[in-house]
Amino acid sequence: MKEEFLLKFRGVRGSIPVPGKTTLRYGGNTTCIELRINGNIIIVDAGTGIINLGNELMTEFLKNFKPIKATMLFTHVHLDHVMGLPFFTPIYIGTTELNMFGPRYYNQDFKKSISMCMQSPLFPVEFDDVQSNCIVNNIKEGELIIINGNNNPEIDNVFRPTKKTDENSIKIFAYQSYAHPNDGVLAYRIEYKGKKVVIATDIEGYKTPDVRLSKFSKDVDLLIADAQYTEQEYQNAQGFGHSTINMAIDLAKNANAKNLVLFHHDPRHTDEKLDEIHKYAKTLMPNCKMAIEEEVIDILKLSVVSNP
Ligand SMILES: [Zn+2]
Ligand SMILES: [Zn+2]
Repeated sequence: MKEEFLLKFRGVRGSIPVPGKTTLRYGGNTTCIELRINGNIIIVDAGTGIINLGNELMTEFLKNFKPIKATMLFTHVHLDHVMGLPFFTPIYIGTTELNMFGPRYYNQDFKKSISMCMQSPLFPVEFDDVQSNCIVNNIKEGELIIINGNNNPEIDNVFRPTKKTDENSIKIFAYQSYAHPNDGVLAYRIEYKGKKVVIATDIEGYKTPDVRLSKFSKDVDLLIADAQYTEQEYQNAQGFGHSTINMAIDLAKNANAKNLVLFHHDPRHTDEKLDEIHKYAKTLMPNCKMAIEEEVIDILKLSVVSNP
């Protein structure tokens, strides 16, 4: 197995995809993050960014015929986080195995929620009819996912662990926030070889900092946080379930995060506007960068990130 911990932004946009010449540099796809850890593929959310990832996985598959196996973590099932799933080509390949994890909504299993993005008359193929082996699991705060180097994730209990782990194990912890419309959202903390990454999107800061989320993100190497709005925009968007740039920075500082990435960009923000936001954010936190589609971060080598 390759000792690696790479994170690639596949989609960095909130709400809707925004292709076009004003979003070329930061990207227009909705949220999807790909991680390659110790030979395992982990995908967080299935916004439109997952479509290109699927095409690349298919190219690899057609070259070597090694079945595609991936662990998929869902923060929630709002459209911008799942709209790419029906167009993720590996899901239609019989040898593909996808271990999916997501929260229960309104006391319904995650499988029921995720199935809703592939059902008639909205889409011609039902989720239950895809050829691949999709194993759908509920995950909640207090549980963790352990991957022991063989692409076979297992759920354990944080307080009463029963599964064996070693220095090569990947550990994924879940955090439940209710600061997002409908039944809330999950944040994930992914740990490997002593490095920690937190992905906390679609969480509104309200009165910052979020004390519980700060604890969950304590001393992380990389915090990827929702920063959809400027302070001015937030005046008309309170309660929508998203944070401001200042809220993300407050969270990062309170958690003592080593690096911060501002994520879930507002679809109205052009490349120029995002440059402006980045300039402002760096005055408050120098180790702060913007999420950029297609950019890769090597977490094992990470000390302080900076924009190219
Ligand atoms: Zn979103
Ligand atoms: Zn959402």
